[in-house]
Amino acid sequence: MNFENSARYAAALDAADPLASFRDRFLFPVDASGEKVLYFTGNSLGLQPATVREYVNQELDDWAKFAVEGHLHAKNPWLPYHEFLVENMAEVVGAKPIETVVMNSLTVNLHLLMVSFYRPSGKRRKIVIEKGAFPSDQYAVRSQLRFHLENERANGRAGEWENALIELTPRAGESTLRIDDIVATIRENGDEIALVLLGGVNYYTGQAFDFEAITKAGHEAGAIVGFDCAHAAGNLELKLHEWDVDFAAWCSYKYLNAGPGGIAGVFVNERHAERFDLPRFAGWWGHDKETRFLMGDEFHPMRGAEGWQISNPPILQMAALRASLEIFHEAGMSNLRTKSEVLTAYLEFLLKEIETERIEIITPEDPERRGCQLSIRVREADHSLFDAISEAGVIADWREPDVIRAAPTPLYNSFTDVYKFSRVLRNCLEK
Ligand SMILES: *Cc1c(COP(=O)(O)O)cnc(C)c1O
Repeated sequence: MNFENSARYAAALDAADPLASFRDRFLFPVDASGEKVLYFTGNSLGLQPATVREYVNQELDDWAKFAVEGHLHAKNPWLPYHEFLVENMAEVVGAKPIETVVMNSLTVNLHLLMVSFYRPSGKRRKIVIEKGAFPSDQYAVRSQLRFHLENERANGRAGEWENALIELTPRAGESTLRIDDIVATIRENGDEIALVLLGGVNYYTGQAFDFEAITKAGHEAGAIVGFDCAHAAGNLELKLHEWDVDFAAWCSYKYLNAGPGGIAGVFVNERHAERFDLPRFAGWWGHDKETRFLMGDEFHPMRGAEGWQISNPPILQMAALRASLEIFHEAGMSNLRTKSEVLTAYLEFLLKEIETERIEIITPEDPERRGCQLSIRVREADHSLFDAISEAGVIADWREPDVIRAAPTPLYNSFTDVYKFSRVLRNCLEK
């Protein structure tokens, strides 16, 4: 694209942007003079949709008015409340409603899904992850390995657990993984891999993985393939069903704007909808709806992703997510992604215009291999550049040892935001 490095050009892109008005539906922090900050951390905590307050207030009012009877008589009855979110959530990740549920939080869901889908046996017990995967995912995976190991020990069997974790590492001198290397690793270890569990978009580098190729390679090796879509949901145009992913989990407070600690999402492929043979940690909310309140002793799980629910869910959190998902439905993931590619390409263009050796973009250049985030490596980093841009009204994110992450989101960031950000960065680098 032939971009121009000027405020007028950025304003012209905004004027031509069919999604531009969505920006007004979000609440921005403002600086001392009442100006909206340059907010580039939708990858960490998305902004509050203006409708959230009304949605949450509805439930507070109904709680006051109906108390326990709100389960059935609230305007949006609490008993089936999670069902009001399923269609829009499924749409965001390219899933069928039967494959989608909102529940718990992300790492908890990864554990619950691994209970069912990480089934080491015989020689097949390895897990493939990214080296430098998000710490919570590493802890979750390692503790699952440990859990199985201790069980074997307790049963007097010393299983083969050496090297049970395969960590994908970029080639020397490279920052991101090559798809050919990922597929080759999966093939080489074929009959020893039980689970491939990757982030859809790496939180640090912003690299988006080829879900389809990885899933295919994993399945050919006889493994289960899951994705952590924390940085992919609401960012990429996902097709979890079509790509035949086995399971996925994501949080909703990043690109999905559902507020701090928001209730998370889960995908379980329709293929597994009736895998009642798999072990699962059960609770009453996963029990067949028709008979749940007969309060029987025996657990009869529902078909599909819903059957993995455990507890009755937090209505106030779901109300916030519901408000946000309605905006996604209205805007459409495909339209958002179309804008996002241009918005991020514009940021990339402006960063390259800055004449300096001090910064380097480590996120892949190929738009297919990234979402909206660009990770900017700062040479001889000492945090001072980051402090300077923060001082100038930018909310971005610093990751040790030397990366600034900037994520212009298509729902509420403008081309002018991106332009202003590049000016701030340039000015701070010149100082
Ligand atoms: C944000 C994020 C998490 C956070 O997990 P919570 O359980 O929501 O605290 C975990 N994994 C990845 C990849 C993330 O990006």
